[in-house]
Amino acid sequence: MKVVVCGAGIAGLTVANQLARSGIDTVFVEQAPGPRPQGYMIDFFGPGYDAAEAMGVLPRIIELGYRIRELVYVDEHGRRRVRLTMNQLDSVVGGRLVSILRPDLELALRQHLPDTVELRGGTRLVGLDSAADAGTITVTFADGSHETADLLIGADGVHSTMRRLTFGPDNNFLRYLGFHTAAYIFEAPVLAAEMADRYSLTDTINARRRKCCTEIGVWVARMACTTDTLPPVLTPTRCITTRSHRW
Ligand SMILES: Cc1cc2nc3c(=O)[nH]c(=O)nc-3n(C[C@H](O)[C@H](O)[C@H](O)COP(=O)(O)OP(=O)(O)OC[C@H]3O[C@@H](n4cnc5c(N)ncnc54)[C@H](O)[C@@H]3O)c2cc1C
Repeated sequence: MKVVVCGAGIAGLTVANQLARSGIDTVFVEQAPGPRPQGYMIDFFGPGYDAAEAMGVLPRIIELGYRIRELVYVDEHGRRRVRLTMNQLDSVVGGRLVSILRPDLELALRQHLPDTVELRGGTRLVGLDSAADAGTITVTFADGSHETADLLIGADGVHSTMRRLTFGPDNNFLRYLGFHTAAYIFEAPVLAAEMADRYSLTDTINARRRKCCTEIGVWVARMACTTDTLPPVLTPTRCITTRSHRW
């Protein structure tokens, strides 16, 4: 049996790992030429944690991950309103929690791929042609090459090309909830020392924005808003230093 997996995100890497370990001939296609550094901190627990453990990749995830000491919720004056320690969080999830940057999660899954997986980076899936009678599917890539397989798995994310080619345009399936989000990572040693190993959350920077920061040598800041228009452009440094200097 031959399987083509489209997309080397978290889902694609996971399924390719499992298929290849079951001895299935797996070709893996990803539009990015290589691993990408983009992404922010993910609290990794629950079903994802269980799946990583079953796959045998959990030790590497823990090695690459971070232990956050506490989570604090602050108001617009920097006053702590709620504090949750790691011990309290641990007691909720039985200690099965690690914080990890999204690129490090991708890295752990990539490093776990068996050598038998053929990973083709830097090309996109652009066409599909299924031969129902033969039970196969032929996939066309942007570089003009083709691949015929018994099964095609679409793991190409929220704006999936595969879904569009198979079921129609995105707007038949996506429901816009009115949120925008932006994330930044940048180095700020002074803030790093002040904020070490802590998550700080506030929704009071202004009435419509929300920011989430963690500090482990780099800042990871995220803003979301619920307006129909994008928020005004704020550089990461300005966002942190002008609005959060009291933290
Ligand atoms: C670079 C990046 C950074 C992210 N950072 C975060 C984060 O910090 N926190 C968070 O919660 N979520 C993040 N996400 C989203 C998160 O990874 C996904 O929403 C979630 O993990 C679901 O994973 P997925 O595998 O379904 O999709 P994704 O992780 O989005 O992966 C889809 C993959 O398919 C590839 N792809 C798309 N179209 C094609 C095509 N036609 N041919 C070949 N390849 C294609 C994309 O390049 C991507 O690698 C990020 C996604 C990306 C791509």
